[in-house]
Amino acid sequence: MPLRFLVTGGAGFIGSAVVRKLIGETRHEVCVVDKLTYAGNLASLEPVVGSSRYRFEQADIGDASRLEAIFAGFKPNIVLHLAAESHVDRSIDGPAAFIETNIVGSFVLLQESLRHYRSLPADEQAEFRFHHISTDEVFGSLGGDGLFREDTAYQPNSPYSASKAASDHLVRAWYHTYGLPMVMTNCSNNYGPYHFPEKLIPLMIINAIEGKPLPVYGNGLNVRDWLYVDDHAEALIAVATEGKLGESYNIGGHNEKTNIEVVKTICAILDELMPDPEGPRERLIRYVTDRPGHDARYAIDASKIGRELGWAPKETFETGLRRTVAWYLANATWWGDTRSGVYRGERLGAA
Ligand code: NAD
Repeated sequence: MPLRFLVTGGAGFIGSAVVRKLIGETRHEVCVVDKLTYAGNLASLEPVVGSSRYRFEQADIGDASRLEAIFAGFKPNIVLHLAAESHVDRSIDGPAAFIETNIVGSFVLLQESLRHYRSLPADEQAEFRFHHISTDEVFGSLGGDGLFREDTAYQPNSPYSASKAASDHLVRAWYHTYGLPMVMTNCSNNYGPYHFPEKLIPLMIINAIEGKPLPVYGNGLNVRDWLYVDDHAEALIAVATEGKLGESYNIGGHNEKTNIEVVKTICAILDELMPDPEGPRERLIRYVTDRPGHDARYAIDASKIGRELGWAPKETFETGLRRTVAWYLANATWWGDTRSGVYRGERLGAA
């Protein structure tokens, strides 16, 4: 049966991938609620604007009266909560916006979701879900081995991860205290098309295309697990519609890589797809001062979602990265517009 999804942060990187999938591959309806900060981009929703099952509301999740009106008009069955300030480096330079949106904004959204939930007849209450999208960064940093599991203790180290951890706790409390039906997911680093070029992979691809230096933090040996964004979008839809209430699910790509491996792989793919007459792009790599409090390693045990919901990522790191590099080569207009706006590729978060 078609459902109504209210997607906060739907003009962002992951949110827009979910919306493109919901409109393109299902019969569900979507209402995007997005403030359109520097990270929100309506061009990422261009493929769905013609659909009668899609609508857009420019609103701040901290604006209770706007939310109340949107809930009353759209009557969602599912809230997918992705709106957030999401960049660790920006959280070091200016944590206030992270507290405001990720914690206070999530609180306001929970209150309005609860008000809406309580107004529903019993049969609609039975299918309502609030799905909170969070990060593996709430678990802190790992040593050389071990994996984050759903029951790993929270130990956030950056203002960003601390604000996400706080919102996770609020969501959990609204389930246990007020009975708001919720599911939660904590995922690893996403990459793929439509990714704002302040993050490692798109920044490296674009700088390498333009022949600019490729700044690698510290010794380049920090490890992240990489998840292709369309694989993530599929997992989110599965959890939102089939996940067990009150549970959280880890989502990962089974792709642990050091940052320097990531950058060298990007260079190799680009050298193959668009050779540089001046020579291999690895020559552009520069080691720069590390991020303060840079977590050494994140790695995720995503076996629960595989076991319980049958989800597995389709892309390997090699296939996903190849698709991503090809997309950036073919979509210079999209990233050219973002680079000519508020962010021009400068270093952020050096504190
Ligand atoms: P993004 O920064 O690309 O997009 C965030 C979106 O939220 C933007 O469209 C922005 O305009 C909107 N937004 C910000 N503040 C808002 C507010 N107050 N009200 C309404 N809208 C607002 O982020 P993303 O990478 O797509 O991440 C989406 C979610 O997934 C976030 O909650 C993030 O913490 C989480 N997450 C991301 C990653 C990753 O690798 N990108 C990994 C783990 C978890």
